[in-house]
Amino acid sequence: MAELGSNSPSIDCNLLVAKALARAGVDRMFGVVGIPVTSLANRALSLGIRFIAFHNEQSAGYAASAYGYLTGRPGVLLTVSGPGCVHGLAGLSNAGVNAWPMVMISGSCDQKDFGRGDFQELDQIAAVKPFVKFSVKAKDISEIPSSVFSVLDHAGSGRPGGCYLDIPSDVLHQTVTESEANRLLDEAESRITIEPIKSVTYDEIIKAISLIRKAERPLIVFGKGAAIARAEDELKCLVEKTGIPFLPTPMGKGLLPDVHELAATAARSLAIGKCDVAIVVGARLNWLLHFGEPPKWSKEVKFILIDIDEDEIKLRKPELGLIGDAKKILKMLNKEIKDDPFCLGRSHPWIEAITNKVKENVSRMEGQLAKDVVPFNFLTPMRIIRDAIIGLGSPAPVVVSEGANTMDVGRSVLVQMEPRTRLDAGTWGTMGVGLGYCIAAAVASPDRLVVAVEGDSGFGFSAMEVETLVRYQLPVVVIVFNNGGVYGGDRRNPEDITGPYKDDPAPTSFVPGAAYHLLIEAFGGKGYLVGNPDELKSALTESFSARKPAVINVTIDPYAGAESGRMQHKN
Ligand code: ADP
Repeated sequence: MAELGSNSPSIDCNLLVAKALARAGVDRMFGVVGIPVTSLANRALSLGIRFIAFHNEQSAGYAASAYGYLTGRPGVLLTVSGPGCVHGLAGLSNAGVNAWPMVMISGSCDQKDFGRGDFQELDQIAAVKPFVKFSVKAKDISEIPSSVFSVLDHAGSGRPGGCYLDIPSDVLHQTVTESEANRLLDEAESRITIEPIKSVTYDEIIKAISLIRKAERPLIVFGKGAAIARAEDELKCLVEKTGIPFLPTPMGKGLLPDVHELAATAARSLAIGKCDVAIVVGARLNWLLHFGEPPKWSKEVKFILIDIDEDEIKLRKPELGLIGDAKKILKMLNKEIKDDPFCLGRSHPWIEAITNKVKENVSRMEGQLAKDVVPFNFLTPMRIIRDAIIGLGSPAPVVVSEGANTMDVGRSVLVQMEPRTRLDAGTWGTMGVGLGYCIAAAVASPDRLVVAVEGDSGFGFSAMEVETLVRYQLPVVVIVFNNGGVYGGDRRNPEDITGPYKDDPAPTSFVPGAAYHLLIEAFGGKGYLVGNPDELKSALTESFSARKPAVINVTIDPYAGAESGRMQHKN
C-alpha cells in the first residue's frame, strides 16, 4: 500500500505494471482496453511499449501467442475483466496447446465486491486454470513486480506456454512511493524463480550417434520446438554432415529450405513409412505425426526424441529421449559426429529411393499446377501466389495460412525458404487465427511482408481486424479463397434436405460472391476482386510492392476441393 508521510513522489499501479513489464523486456502488447485496464495500456505506451489495440480479445490473444512463437519471448495480451478474460482464453489456450510463450494480464473486479455480483465479476484464476502453466493474482500493489516477473519467467521456461496475471481493479487504483516501487522492481528482477533445464549427458549423445550410425533408413523430423529453439543452423549442420533426409512438420517448414536436396516433404509417406530410425526434434508424436504408430510408421522404427519437456519423453517412451533445448543438444551431437564423420551420400539406396519419389511426386504436382483452371480451383491461384512469393526473394514474407482446402493445398504448394515464416492452424487446427497472426507477424518482423492465404471461413472469424491492419498501416496482404462457404457450395444430397427449415442456407454456406474486398475499403485499405490468372497476378504485383494493408478476394469454384484426406473420416 502507499507509504504515508514519505517525501518520495508516488506512482500508481498502472505505471508500476508498465515499469515491471518494460524492465522484464516486454516491448509489445496486444489487447482490448476498457474498465479497468485503459490506463495500463496508456502507461505502457508512455514507457515505449507498443500497444496494438484490437476489436476482439480472441484475435489479440492469437496475436500474442504467435508473437511469442516468432520472437521466443512471451507475447503479452491485456484484457478487461469477465467477458474480456473469457474471450482471451482462446489465445491463452492456443499458446498452451502449441507450446508458445504468452502471458495474459486481465483486470478483475474489486476484491471487496467479489461474490456480490460486481461488474464483470468472474473467478478468473479458476477460469484460466485448464489453460495455463502458472497463474497469480496480485492482491496488493506490492505484489505487482514479482508477479509480473514470475508470469513472464514461467511462460518462457521449459516447454513454453500460457501464463496468467490477475490484477483486481482496487489494486490498479493503489499507489506506492517511487522509491518503494524501485525497491520492489529491483528485488523482483534479482529473484530467479525458474529451475534450470537439465542437460543431456555425453553418454546419451554417444548412444544417439550409435543408433543413427546403425540405421539403414534414418530420417530427421523437426517441428515448432526446433523453430522456437532457433535450431536452424544446427539442423542444417546435422543434415549436411550425415546426409540424412529430413521432414519438417507444417510449421517446421522453412527451418531448412523446402527446396533442399534432402527435403523429403514430397515423399512424406515413404519417408515415415519406411524409416528405421527417426530423430524427432521439437515435434510431438501426436495426430500430426500419426502418433508415431503403424500403419503410417513402420512397426520397427526407433525414435530418438529431442524435447525440452521431460513429460513428453515419458509419454512417448522412445528408444532414446534427449531432454533439453534442441539447439544445445544438436550442437553437442554435431560436435561428436565431427570427430568420426559419416555421410550417407547420394547413391545410398535410401537416399535414392527418397529422391526418386520426391521427383516423381513433384513432377506430378507440377503437371497439375501448370494448368490454368478458370473458374479457379485451389491449385491455379495457389501456384500464382507461390510464384509471386518466390519472386520477393529474401527476406521472405511470413505466410499465414488457415482454412480446410486452402491450408492443405497451401502447405504442399507454397515454398518456405526461411525459418519461422509459416504460421498455420497449428496443433489444434484452430480456425480464426489468421488476422491475429498477421498482425503479430507484421509487428514481430517489420522487415518482412506478411501474406495470408485464407479460406473465406477462416477469414470471417476475425475479418473486422482488417481495420486494425489499416489503423496501424501494417504491410499485410490477405488473400481470401472465396468459395462461398465452409467447404464451398452446398454439397448435401437433395433428399436429405427436409423439415421446416429446408429452405434455409446449408450450415456450410455463406452469401455467394461475398465482397470481402470491400470490407477493407470501408477503412481506407485496398481491395481487389479477382477471378482469373491475369487479375490475380496484377493484384499480387501491386499489393506486394505497395506493402500496405490489402485484401484480395479470389473467386473460387464453390465445388472445387474437399475436406483434407486426413480428416475426412472424422466429419
Ligand atoms: P509440431 O506441431 O511442429 O509437430 P509440436 O508443437 O507438436 O510441434 O511440438 C513442439 C515440441 O517442442 C513440444 O513438445 C515442446 O515441448 C518442444 N519444445 C519447445 N521448445 C523447445 C526447445 N527449446 N528445445 C526442444 N524442444 C522444445
